[in-house]
Amino acid sequence: MTERIAIIGAGPAGSATALGLERYSGIETIMFERYSMPRRKACGSGLSPWTLKLLDRMGVGRKVRKQAYPIDGARIAGKDGEGVELRGEHETAILLRRDFDHLLAREAASRGVELRDGVRVKNVVRDDPPGPDTRGAVRGIRTGTDEIEVDGVVDCSGANGTFSRADRPGRTLHTLMGWYEGVQDASDVVEVFFDASVKPHYGWIFPETDKRVNIGICCSADADGPNVRERYEQFLDRRLRDRLKGADQLDRLVGHPVKTSYWATDLVQNGTIAAGEAGHLADMATAEGIYHALLSGWTAADVMGPILERGERPTPSRLAPYTGRVRQKLGMRLAGGRALMESLRTPMMDMLLQFRSSPPARALLTKAFAGLYHG
Ligand SMILES: Cc1cc2nc3c(=O)[nH]c(=O)nc-3n(C[C@H](O)[C@H](O)[C@H](O)COP(=O)(O)OP(=O)(O)OC[C@H]3O[C@@H](n4cnc5c(N)ncnc54)[C@H](O)[C@@H]3O)c2cc1C
Repeated sequence: MTERIAIIGAGPAGSATALGLERYSGIETIMFERYSMPRRKACGSGLSPWTLKLLDRMGVGRKVRKQAYPIDGARIAGKDGEGVELRGEHETAILLRRDFDHLLAREAASRGVELRDGVRVKNVVRDDPPGPDTRGAVRGIRTGTDEIEVDGVVDCSGANGTFSRADRPGRTLHTLMGWYEGVQDASDVVEVFFDASVKPHYGWIFPETDKRVNIGICCSADADGPNVRERYEQFLDRRLRDRLKGADQLDRLVGHPVKTSYWATDLVQNGTIAAGEAGHLADMATAEGIYHALLSGWTAADVMGPILERGERPTPSRLAPYTGRVRQKLGMRLAGGRALMESLRTPMMDMLLQFRSSPPARALLTKAFAGLYHG
């Protein structure tokens, strides 16, 4: 008997689930992606040291490094001024998400996963509910044209996904970004500006090649304040106007929400698991989410895979260990994101940057931003 599983979405969470499931036998995996691959994704495309290590464990680290742009340092600036340049011993890299996601999805397909791109999943089809507060077992998924029988579903449909909606403790961040060539003084370091226009979040310049950078902001929604586009303009005006003289904007600006939380919860229903941003598993302060998506997808495969391999139904009680494992692996990071965000509301960062030449302040900055640079 072959059990069939549907993955909704071919972002990092979807492909990590797909790659993870290939380690189990007797499972047919179909990964649905609403857009044709390669597709665009608004993202800084920064791969932190822990992301690269996880990609190694998944057997794709070498291929990713071959395409990625290595980062050699980070410049961290506060509400004004040049900030501080940090170097360290970590490895980080940037790989345009269009290419990164395509690489992972292709890798999953080459290992036996069926990729159906250009196909949007409309609903998860269930048996009648056994009780008023419980969901029926998963029978299949419905696309615009077909109903396909499946035994389990991993929801990797990202921040805009609707299959695993729940009230989770955290917030939605707003972003806007664009791609540019010819930005003055851009190099192989990432630049992060804790500017007043986006406080307590930040604006960034991430180099993708020796010519092209992406520039963006992430911020919280504030009903009375300027909207995201106004904040983006303010950020460029305040920090980058001179450096953008003579630069070309390569495409239109794009925005996308980032669903974050500080406590992983409501990730499992009868027959389904949510991974990545479908479960709001991104960092509240930094909006880092690729690692969280890969790790939760890989973990989803490790929970769903053995259940289906044994030919059992993925009931809520069998799937329940997933939430605990995600908390164990990501809980400290998610809680740390909340703590960092609270501290960024205070003048602490600017004070640290003022004392940047003192060894303790520098050591603290070096530790806090370890995810951003490579020495
Ligand atoms: C501007 C911006 C900058 C960021 N920068 C960084 C960064 O530098 N580093 C970092 O680590 N993180 C960053 N993030 C966060 C990161 O992009 C996300 O956390 C990550 O992409 C989440 O991965 P995912 O697989 O859960 O979802 P996604 O990558 O969003 O993938 C979900 C996929 O599901 C598909 N889908 C949705 N609904 C359906 C459906 N019904 N049927 C079929 N397919 C469907 C979508 O088309 C999409 O391809 C950034 C986010 C933004 C918005």
